Amino acid sequence: MKKIIVSACLLGTPCRYDGKSKPSEAVIALGEKYELIPVCPECLGGLPTPRLPCEIKDGCVLRIDGVDCTREYTEGAKKSLEIARENEADTAIFKAKSPSCGKYQIYDGTYTGTLICGQGVTAKLFMENNIKVIDEEELDKL
Ligand code: SF4
Repeated sequence: MKKIIVSACLLGTPCRYDGKSKPSEAVIALGEKYELIPVCPECLGGLPTPRLPCEIKDGCVLRIDGVDCTREYTEGAKKSLEIARENEADTAIFKAKSPSCGKYQIYDGTYTGTLICGQGVTAKLFMENNIKVIDEEELDKL
């Protein structure tokens, strides 16, 4: 069975910054056809749940209180990539708009709900390493 890396929150794991999950029935249903391997880069980077939200600003991941969390996000991205490689997974389904997992858009660092074009830290690293990334809104691209 082909293995696919998936944002853990999409599979129902309560690992989001607010301590909640974001389950997608369509993603969960893919478990009948694929082996879904959950990863939460922010947890893998050592951040607690719940945690204060972060947004990316000028290439740095800044927590809402100004603390720089770039190191944790980068570490989580590297560990997620290691998991993909260990499992020989060439595809990931990642949660849209996340500062880790977002593929097309991220929040702009002003905490005003403003989206800009950009990639989360892990999604970017995966794509740089030739792993196909799609988000939960484009499962037809699998
Ligand atoms: S880092 Fe990714 S997997 Fe973890 S909660 Fe955020 S969107 Fe979900």
